[in-house]
This record gives sequence, structure tokens and C-alpha cells, in this order.
Amino acid sequence: MCGIIAAASTRNVGKLLVQGLHKMEYRGYDSAGIALHQNESIAHLRALGKVQLLEDKMVAEKPKSKLGIAHTRWATHGEPSEANAHPHKSKDSVYIVHNGIIENYVALRESLINDGYEFASQTDSELIAHLLDLYLNQGNNMIDAMYLAKEKLDGAYAIAAIDINDSENLVVARNKSPLLLGLGTDEILAASDPLAIGQLTNEFIFLEDGDVAEISAEAYTIFDTNKQEVTREITTIDISSQATSKGDYRHYMEKEIYEQPQAILNTIDGRIGGDDVLDNIFGLGSAELFAQVERIQIVACGTSLHAGRVAASWFSSISEFTYMCL
Ligand code: GLU
Repeated sequence: MCGIIAAASTRNVGKLLVQGLHKMEYRGYDSAGIALHQNESIAHLRALGKVQLLEDKMVAEKPKSKLGIAHTRWATHGEPSEANAHPHKSKDSVYIVHNGIIENYVALRESLINDGYEFASQTDSELIAHLLDLYLNQGNNMIDAMYLAKEKLDGAYAIAAIDINDSENLVVARNKSPLLLGLGTDEILAASDPLAIGQLTNEFIFLEDGDVAEISAEAYTIFDTNKQEVTREITTIDISSQATSKGDYRHYMEKEIYEQPQAILNTIDGRIGGDDVLDNIFGLGSAELFAQVERIQIVACGTSLHAGRVAASWFSSISEFTYMCL
């Protein structure tokens, strides 16, 4: 559940997409990647490790593009590796980035293999590219293909997709994983985190679960879960000053106290499927690792000490641990 950024613009978008990835580095990630539409082909660059390594590849290759998608990955299915890094593609024609978890990926993967698709990664995400390709090949446009794919997908997702046959539009979809549009000057952006695009615009549209949107440099169209075109409210937020200023609060601690509901929502958004916390949200193999834990030590001072004590009490209320404060 890491970071997505996508852009359709009248200028080159490679640099702004990578800058957006840098802005989301604070969330933690294991790899990063980008797909840039270049009319005849799509430049596809990925790197295991830091966004800087991806940026180094961009500097070396200098791809030019006005339409692109990019991602920082926090592995849930498949080890952290370049092959598992997003974007994933289907037959060099459809490229996607995905945040979240596809819960029914085993069955969908098998059915796509039966349809002749070859998988290049161990992720749950790659099948989304193949599903879209399947439906596009049946004569659907990308919006319809996305709705058909959504009917198949169980789980949490924010998706951005581009198609080799369309160098002007990209399509995004949201279900239980944050996704918003940003309305810039001569460009429209999409991101999972407003901080990724807060340098480029103050105007945001927060998509709702079930929404699908098509974006070009000049226009966007949003459809709701029933594929009805909808108008969503445009919210004006000065992200750069909001994150660093006290706003109307008397001091920063008061601001942080009032930010708690939103901070908790941002943390758990995309990590809950149905009524349960999703497996693997703490990363690959976390369930096996947690099963071996015999002791938890929380080391903190100041207000963090109080937070640590609350956490210790909660851990012991849902587990066999008894807690001791030293
Ligand atoms: N489940 C996907 C993967 O393992 C996406 C993880 C993410 O949200 O970064 O690649």
C-alpha cells in the first residue's frame, strides 16, 4: 500500500512523476518504477531500492512523455525485486500501477494463464494488466475494460492504467485504497497521497470507492460505482503550507491532536478488506514472522512513552502478552 502518481500533461511528466515519488518516500517502500507513453512505445523503468536509483535510470535514458504512471511498492505478494516492482504490463501494451491487495488473485491468475497470459512477476497486481488487456481485446474501451475488471477483483485497490493505443488518456480506479485527482495548469494528475502532487496544484478531487476516472491534460470524467458520470466536489487545500504551518491552532501539539482521526484514517485506509485487517499489510511474510515473536519491547520517552504505554496495554488485551513498564 505504498504510492501511486499519474499525470497527463502538455509538458514532459517524467521529472514531476519522480518528484512525486520522492514526496511519498516517507511512507516506506522497497522499489519504484515508472511507465511513460511515447506514442509508438512505452518506456518502462524500474529499480529495487531507492527512488534515487530510478531517477538515475531516468537521467541516463531521458525518456520524453506527456502521459505516465509511477509507483513506490511495499511488497505484499512476491519478494521485493525489480521484476515485482510496478508498473506491471501485459504484452507491452497495457501498463498498470496498483496499491493494495487483490484477495482472489490465485483464482484470477489461474484463469488468465488458461487464457494464454504469461506472468512475469509473483505479484497479485500483474493480473490487473492482463485482465484489462483481455477486455480491451474484446473491443471494449479502457473505461469499460476497467469496469469489467472491477467485477472480477476482490480486495483493496487504487489503480492507474495506460494503453499503448492511447497516448492522451489514462484511467484510474479506486476501491478501499486512497486516490485523488489534482487539477493543475494544463495538466491533470492522480495520486494516492495529496503530498505527492501538492507542489503542482491546490485543487483536489477525492475519489470515492467504486469510482473510475479518465484523465487527459485538459479534461477529466468521473464515473461512480454504477458507471454513471458524476460531478465530485473540488477541494482547495494548500498542502505545502498546511503540512508545515500551525494553521488556526494555538500550537503544534493541539494541531496534532485534532489531526488524529485523519492520521488514523490515512494509516488504515487500504489495509482493511470487508471487516478484517488484510493479511500481509505489514509486508511479505509478516504473518509467519509475528507468529515467532516472544517479546515486544517498546522504547520511548516523552509523549511517545505515554503512547507506548497505551500500545502495550492494547497488545496485552488482544494477545497472551502481559506487560511491564520500566
Ligand atoms: N500487492 C501489490 C504488490 O505486492 C501492491 C503493494 C503496494 O501497495 O505497494 O506488489
